[in-house]
Amino acid sequence: KRKVLIVGSGIAGMASAIRLVVKGYQVEVFEANSYPGGKLSEIQIGDYRFDAGPSLFTLPEQVDELFRLAGKDPKDYFEYDKLNVACKYFWEDGTRLNAYADLDLFAEEVQSKLGEPATTIRKALRQSAFIYDSLAPLFMNRSLHKLDTWTNPHALKSYLRMGKLGIFSTMDEANQKQFTHPKLVQLFNRYATYNGSNPFETPATLNIIPHLEFNIGAFFPKKGMHDITQSLFKLSEELGVTYHFGQKVDKVLVENGKAKGLRVKGQDHYADLVVNNMDMVNAYKTILKDQKQPKLLLNQPKSSSALIFYWGIKRDFPELDLHNIFFTDNYPLEFEHIFKKGTIYDDPTIYVNITSTHKSDDAPAGCMNWFTMINVPNNQGQDWDQMITEAKRNIIHKLNRILKTDVEPLIEAEEILDPRTIESKTSSAQGALYGNSSNNKFAAFLRHANYSSSIKSLYFCGGSVHPGGGIPLCLLSAKIMSEMIEE
Ligand code: FAD
Repeated sequence: KRKVLIVGSGIAGMASAIRLVVKGYQVEVFEANSYPGGKLSEIQIGDYRFDAGPSLFTLPEQVDELFRLAGKDPKDYFEYDKLNVACKYFWEDGTRLNAYADLDLFAEEVQSKLGEPATTIRKALRQSAFIYDSLAPLFMNRSLHKLDTWTNPHALKSYLRMGKLGIFSTMDEANQKQFTHPKLVQLFNRYATYNGSNPFETPATLNIIPHLEFNIGAFFPKKGMHDITQSLFKLSEELGVTYHFGQKVDKVLVENGKAKGLRVKGQDHYADLVVNNMDMVNAYKTILKDQKQPKLLLNQPKSSSALIFYWGIKRDFPELDLHNIFFTDNYPLEFEHIFKKGTIYDDPTIYVNITSTHKSDDAPAGCMNWFTMINVPNNQGQDWDQMITEAKRNIIHKLNRILKTDVEPLIEAEEILDPRTIESKTSSAQGALYGNSSNNKFAAFLRHANYSSSIKSLYFCGGSVHPGGGIPLCLLSAKIMSEMIEE
């Protein structure tokens, strides 16, 4: 049997392990942490459970596909529900809006609360679907570094549609044209944050993202986001994948331009192929430091990071749902702080994810588990302790104003995750959530390929390489990479 060694058990590392073991490879995964999943992990504080990282789940069939590949029924491992309300939005002036999954209901809500004609929403979501249909087959499902990607019929279709795909304007410019109400512009601009980008810079092509949430749907795993990790881990172990936890890889062994294996804690392990799931910037700084460095790719600006307060709240708030957004009054200034000044704006947009609304045992009865997150700059050595103290105060004041409550005395449990700890826990360069940002139109071409062009038998998957960050794209990176190995 041909043998593969994988560095890291993030979602893409596990998906790669499953795809390769199913193809008949012997697969071993070396993971620095004592647990699988990387960013997709969980934490427990007393009686409160929290999904530690990702909270929004789209394109669930990509997870199902891994079970099916292994000849299993996904439902025997992993179950999820479609959300009726994708997100609840709150503004300081008292406006509240429900993003219903049912498009008729959503259009009605937008018309009654904001006076925006229902037809505008429908048109915007048709445009989003158009971008997805035009670009997904080209940019998401294939390697950009293989000639046949650019010569197949899908590529031809995309070339013909190029003028309509939003490449030449920013997301904000396109949304200003699509919608008349500024609150709707803000709501749709927020999708840039789904891959850690700035809506005032990123091309309108990223208006592809609402398609996933509105036209296909937002989902929630019945046992929480962490069950994605747990169920894939279970499947992969059943299929014979071997995991080595607490085993930080020191070096990729390269001989005569070919990856031969890994050095871990002074011991050499040999294999036919090596797959790297570690953040590629840190990989080139550590396990590939003696190899040729792809400088242009390494120097690309990183996505934003996050500051999260995991709060056990000893009260119920019936007006809150699984996903809640409390918008800033000044979105341009908030993004200027994140991407230009490298600081946190005083009036940040707050995201509160509450899994206990859908999984009651995540908090004691009558209580809620608030995953309270704001987007922040990636780590450039700022004074985070100071910034966190100020941000916490501003977050609490804003929530108090909008929910007409006093949050601080309700917090009975707290842990904090910031860009420094995101990097130390998952080795993500500068604590960026999604690898490179997509703040310019060439970003898609400036991600590392799913293979090494200078070292044979070395492959890459995960949020820092093609096609990008976020669970769906990480899963696609594993697919593209394993298909490449097969070729
Ligand atoms: P990672 O999760 O980055 O894991 C890499 C693994 O490699 C880690 O386990 C690490 O320990 C291991 N490793 C690193 N170096 C070594 C070494 N030398 N030796 C051995 N092992 C090593 N995505 C969404 O789709 N929806 C969301 O709502 C969402 N929200 C997010 C919120 C937060 C706070 C964060 C942090 C991320 C969020 N994301 C979201 C992004 C998503 O989590 C990531 O894109 C995805 O999980 C990255 O997976 P990955 O396969 O690249 O590996």
